[in-house]
Amino acid sequence: MAFASSLSPSYSLPNLSSMPMNSITTLNKIYPSSLLHRRPIFRVCCNSQLQGRDSSNFNLFASVTSADVLLDEAVEQVRLPKGDTWSIHKFGGTCVGTSERIQNVASIVVKDESERKLVVVSAMSKVTDMMYDLIHKAQARDDSYVTALDAVLEKHKSTAIDLLKGDDLNKFLERLHQDINNLKAMLRAIYIAGHATESFSDFVAGHGELWSAELLSSIIRKSGLKCACMDTRDVLIVNPTSSDQVDPDYVESGRRLEKWYSQNSSDIIVATGFIASTPENIPTTLKRDGSDFSAAIMGALFKARQVTIWTDVDGVYSADPRKVSEAVVLNKLSYQEAWEMSYFGANVLHPRTIIPVMKYDIPIVIRNIFNLSAPGTTICRLADFENEDGLEFTVKGFATIDNLALVNVEGTGMAGVPGTSSAIFGAVKDVGANVIMISQASSEHSVCFAVPEKEVKAVAAALESRFRQALSAGRLSQIAVIPNCSILAAVGQKMASTPGVSATLFSALAKANINIRAIAQGCSEYNVTVVVKREDCVKALRAVHSRFYLSRTTIAMGIIGPGLIGGTLLDQLKEQAAVLKENSNIDLRVLGLTGSKIMLLSDMGVDLSTWRDQLEENGEKADMEKFVRHVHNNHFIPNTVIVDCTADSSIASHYHDWLRRGIHVVTPNKKANSGPLELYLKLRTLQRQSYTHYFYEGTVGAGLPIISTLQGLLETGDKILRIEGIFSGTLSYIFNNFEGARAFSEVVKEAKEAGYTEPDPRDDLSGTDVARKVIILARESGLKLELSDIPIQSLVPDPLKDVPSAEEFMEQLHKYDQDLAKQRQEAEATGEVLRYVGVVDVVNQKGTVELRRYKKEHPFAQLSGSDNIIAFSTQRYEKQPLIVRGPGAGAEVTAGGVFSDILRLASYLGAPS
Ligand code: ADP
Ligand code: ASP
Ligand code: MG
Repeated sequence: MAFASSLSPSYSLPNLSSMPMNSITTLNKIYPSSLLHRRPIFRVCCNSQLQGRDSSNFNLFASVTSADVLLDEAVEQVRLPKGDTWSIHKFGGTCVGTSERIQNVASIVVKDESERKLVVVSAMSKVTDMMYDLIHKAQARDDSYVTALDAVLEKHKSTAIDLLKGDDLNKFLERLHQDINNLKAMLRAIYIAGHATESFSDFVAGHGELWSAELLSSIIRKSGLKCACMDTRDVLIVNPTSSDQVDPDYVESGRRLEKWYSQNSSDIIVATGFIASTPENIPTTLKRDGSDFSAAIMGALFKARQVTIWTDVDGVYSADPRKVSEAVVLNKLSYQEAWEMSYFGANVLHPRTIIPVMKYDIPIVIRNIFNLSAPGTTICRLADFENEDGLEFTVKGFATIDNLALVNVEGTGMAGVPGTSSAIFGAVKDVGANVIMISQASSEHSVCFAVPEKEVKAVAAALESRFRQALSAGRLSQIAVIPNCSILAAVGQKMASTPGVSATLFSALAKANINIRAIAQGCSEYNVTVVVKREDCVKALRAVHSRFYLSRTTIAMGIIGPGLIGGTLLDQLKEQAAVLKENSNIDLRVLGLTGSKIMLLSDMGVDLSTWRDQLEENGEKADMEKFVRHVHNNHFIPNTVIVDCTADSSIASHYHDWLRRGIHVVTPNKKANSGPLELYLKLRTLQRQSYTHYFYEGTVGAGLPIISTLQGLLETGDKILRIEGIFSGTLSYIFNNFEGARAFSEVVKEAKEAGYTEPDPRDDLSGTDVARKVIILARESGLKLELSDIPIQSLVPDPLKDVPSAEEFMEQLHKYDQDLAKQRQEAEATGEVLRYVGVVDVVNQKGTVELRRYKKEHPFAQLSGSDNIIAFSTQRYEKQPLIVRGPGAGAEVTAGGVFSDILRLASYLGAPS
């Protein structure tokens, strides 16, 4: 059997390696009409004839004319049967990354049941990078290009040895060696000249595809099938454009395809991706990642039934799966959506892939070669699937482009002056820069656009020169460059015209505290784009992605004070984490926990089943700033919360700064809200102005819904008249048990032994803790009070205030039992009991903490254990106060209160509720 490829045109170089180098002056002199202005020639010898020949003796360009004649005569013989019988498959670099993978591709091609198929292959993975690297090295006169070229040779040689045998192998190796020798000579020339033109680079870079196509076609032939190998430089004719892109010439390419097919007719064709020729037959490429585009052009030329793009992921994801682990595969995308996704950086598809196939309604299917069971993503006309499940498509996915700069041209002289925009973009076009996004304020005072960072210097210079006069006359105030930007695009059919979508997008960004530099919305119906700081980009991507319910609400948590309450919270989180993920899409990740001495940091989340051991074994020296930075500056979780489980005012003093940085704060620590009024007001103002949340339910009544009840009443327009309650679990216990003939000191002792009191019971008996709760509720109700404004009736007898130790205090307390016993007696005489309460008298704008008497049937008199009870008297609840009652102290309930604040935060951030 004659090898189909033996008739294929070949573009070989004169044997440069044998040329004396000093004869090379410029590269153009070496390749005048040969390589760079080559014309198709045909290697009219079969493989065996090639063997043993001196490579410099064949493929001479003198043979061009006769070959052309041969070709033209053949044209009419076999016509290309265009249409549905053809399927196009494209295999990306990773699909052909190793010999096993190439073998696998061959078997997929062989098994494919299409009547006819054209298979476009990329270079083996990394090979194109290696080829460009050779050029860069040679240009930089770095000798190591020689060893780098050896590595390229070795990679293909060993792959071929793995895959081929006998004649097939020899033929391939001969070609490989010949190509490598020529490349060596060419690179040597580039090395001497210190420069490579684009055509030279394109010629070198395209070799990876030539070799992989040759290998794949040989293997397919090994299975007994006829298979032609197409060097697409003979068929695909493209015109270079100014912006590093090429435009296919479909008419000329179609003509050349007919010619080629008449000489190489076969039902299986393996074609090189990426490479093409200019109309002058100069080798060129479709630019990086261009093999997808090659496949689409082939699809259009063959009018194929379908183009399948095989790659290493299950399809087009709702966001780059390397950046958003929760991204989901999209089953269907419209051509426009796919185009927008790829244009804005989803490199799973080359952006220009869509245009050729769209014209003929040829669907593209993206499939994973490593997961054949995944159906992949189908890209087709919207009308083909829009009514399938009645879904209204809004946001489909998100993509990002990095390394951009924004240029902002501003000035009052721009408003209403026709031609300003065209002058701006004319200047940009003159420097050949690619404008990726434009946004113009409706006031016409500024035009803002994004260009690749590497082009911004030239753009700014061109604009400054173009508008020199306007700038000096003050008509333009400035041409500002904002470097280090990224674009984040949300893509979806009609999303820009669907009410609410943009608002949701922007609020998700605001909630993640991401500053938007520019917005372009509505320029196409399919996308909304925002420009953000580059360092915020991944975070922004995750925030918006999760907001649109495409992934879980993920919150990075930093826990301060893993003691009794913090430790209990961590244990509760551990128990509940899986359920939250499963049922509510909430993913809580503890990225750090810190005590006063040591802290534990983790990138992905501390394993909560072993946090105690890890803290002990892997803990590092506590450092609050480092801790906060670690938890907040991770680039993959959009929201951060710090949970302060201490009672420390120095920790509370950080809240303002944290909230300002966009960190949410949840705490049972009373110190911030009961500290200096001015600081409290600053904190609340900041919280109201930003999208950052500050929740502190645990500060009053542990997990009981006291703050939230109060807030709910206020927000719905009720007027608070008075709040009265037993706010201390300890004092509740003490007075609930201070009955009959029992001495006060005896009950305090019992409470202490049962663990109800602070280590020094005076901390409870002094009433300051209750006063802090009163002040928190008073301020929440709108009163501007300081802690010192609250009169506190202390239960610590004056002489015992300064007794040094708790033990001594306990020993002496009995001496003062008399006073309280008397008060109890008096109360009992009128059917009353003593209760230690806090009162917020909103009407008279004051608060008190004192021992009061209540009728035995009053709800406060009927408490048991250490329960808290709080009564809200309001305009709505005037006759019968609204009462909240229940356990108001203890690690379990306090941690539970903190936990429910965390979940409230998650639902504010978008978790389903
Ligand atoms: P090939 O070599 O097969 O052409 P590419 O590396 O060019 O493969 O494209 C596939 C890669 O694109 C995936 O491995 C994935 O990391 C990346 N990618 C970026 N954005 C997306 C997206 N939205 N969906 C799927 N893949 C994406
Ligand atoms: N091999 C080329 C590249 O890496 C083309 C492609 O793989 O799409 O850019
Ligand atoms: Mg690709």
